[in-house]
Amino acid sequence: TPPELIRNFCIIAHIDHGKSTLADRMLQLTGVVQPRDARAQYLDRMDIERERGITIKSQAVRMPWQRGEEPYALNMIDTPGHVDFTYEVSRSLAACEGAILLVDAAQGIEAQTLANLYLAMEHDLEIIPVLNKIDLPAAQPEKYAAELAGLVGGEPEDVLRVSGKTGDGVTELLDLIVDRVPAPVGDPDAPARAMIFDSVYDTYRGVVTYVRAVDGDLNPRERIEMMSTKATHELLEIGVISPEPIKTKGLGVGEVGYLITGVKDVRQSKVGDTVTSAQHPAAEPLGGYDDPKPMVFSGLYPIDGSDYPTLRDALDKLKLNDAALNYEPETSVALGFGFRVGFLGLLHLEIVRERLEREFDLDLISTAPNVVYDVTMEDGTTVKVTNPSEFPAGRIKEVREPIVKATVLAPSEFVGAVMGLCTDRRGQMEGMDYLSEDRVELRWTLPLAEIVFDFFDALKSRTRGYASLDYEPSGDQAADLVKVDILLQGDQVDAFSAIVHKDAAYEYGVKMTAKLKEIIPRQQFEVPIQAAVGARIIARETVRAIRKDVLAKCYGGDISRKRKLLEKQKEGKKRMKNIGSVEVPKEAFISALSSD
Ligand code: GDP
Ligand code: MG
Repeated sequence: TPPELIRNFCIIAHIDHGKSTLADRMLQLTGVVQPRDARAQYLDRMDIERERGITIKSQAVRMPWQRGEEPYALNMIDTPGHVDFTYEVSRSLAACEGAILLVDAAQGIEAQTLANLYLAMEHDLEIIPVLNKIDLPAAQPEKYAAELAGLVGGEPEDVLRVSGKTGDGVTELLDLIVDRVPAPVGDPDAPARAMIFDSVYDTYRGVVTYVRAVDGDLNPRERIEMMSTKATHELLEIGVISPEPIKTKGLGVGEVGYLITGVKDVRQSKVGDTVTSAQHPAAEPLGGYDDPKPMVFSGLYPIDGSDYPTLRDALDKLKLNDAALNYEPETSVALGFGFRVGFLGLLHLEIVRERLEREFDLDLISTAPNVVYDVTMEDGTTVKVTNPSEFPAGRIKEVREPIVKATVLAPSEFVGAVMGLCTDRRGQMEGMDYLSEDRVELRWTLPLAEIVFDFFDALKSRTRGYASLDYEPSGDQAADLVKVDILLQGDQVDAFSAIVHKDAAYEYGVKMTAKLKEIIPRQQFEVPIQAAVGARIIARETVRAIRKDVLAKCYGGDISRKRKLLEKQKEGKKRMKNIGSVEVPKEAFISALSSD
């Protein structure tokens, strides 16, 4: 297809505003999916996505569309909507010339809509504002059309109104895409360059790589080169998705499709990388390549220690399909053998954990998630801390923590509540705008560590569910952070160490010691539970001793009876962990870690 007849677009929307439903409807109207094949959310292929109704991995579909005399090819690129995947979203946007800004006509603009809109504007995309779900009785198209027009420019009357559910207005939308989205531009005679915007592992076909061709022509008979690594691969297959893979004779300027090279690991075919011809390589890669950086770390441990090899194999398998997942073995005094795993964010953590439990039948415990800290010692050495228990002792000059730019959208009556929460979480206000009389956009810089735990829940509860949140990484800052250790009889319990702001250390210490007092069974002797910052004890509880021990009964009695009693006691100890001389059932740690 010549570039003049190609339109590459994506749909950006807040979760649940109807992106998948609209995409399905477009597939039907363009004849790509026959009504009898239609199933809800055709594009959301992963089980978890379907069940939760969220899109995790982007996909691209080519749809034929006749406008007047001309047969156009519309490439719809489905971007992941969640904050954890900002980098993937940005690559998907870079593959498009236009974006449909889809807003639920009963909800209005939300934070995710805004965050994705700003990204789309940074990529100079043509923005088509569209109100969806106009069939809903609660829809307020007039009000939200004005809001949308105010945001992206233009007149409220020009905001298209559609229903993905009934199909109302969707034909007009397809025509509008042809009219408004610019055709792709590229140099057909230059060496081939195509950008990878997604890479998916398939059990049967190996890695399937989704690309947007920019210059030249990717030819099925040529070897290709990945420009970031210079690795070359044989091109086994090249084609377009419509909605199943269809082989083609290549991909020319502006085209969107897939290629298969026989690599077995998505790390060899990275999102953001540039594909070129190995024989006639381009001089410069396309811009924007970035290695995925884990932002949040957590320890993952099998509840049953004998599942450790299964967990290791499962992680190895998931890694094939997830370039952002990384892990290394770790041992914990409290939890045994496990892995320290790095994630893009909390949703990513949850998805990985759920897949491990569901697809590999594992029961897992994960430690409280933490961010990555850069510690500089007074002697100038630096340490990257991904596990709080490894926070260095000694003379620390500076600790740096990652920060994010957050966008919160809330009804104006909750401005005070949102500002209070952000201030409590060590936030810095950057700006505030009224989108309409009763809706406010607040922009804050916040430490990532303050967001990853329960920020979203706190925000929801303070705004009765009306606020929405989005954020993107924004570098790091120095902060007054300390490590709080929890000690049982003087021995550190690694899984409970935490890095917190100096002002929050006492509260953490009190909370954790109280919690452990509840769950640690009484022993033959008194067990002090302490919270400490360095050598300084900041909180203390005590588990009192049991008055009689088992052996007291047979003091001076015969030896075989004594042995029997000890045998019996051993049975009960099987699932116990020793922290120094204190025995604690593993379940106790699990309950301490999982509640709140
Ligand atoms: P996504 O998260 O943006 O992909 O949203 P979905 O397409 O999964 O839709 C979220 C919910 O809204 C689902 O329950 C859909 O059935 C519903 N929905 C989507 N589009 C419409 C629409 O045009 N009208 C109505 N009434 N409901 C819709
Ligand atoms: Mg969806």
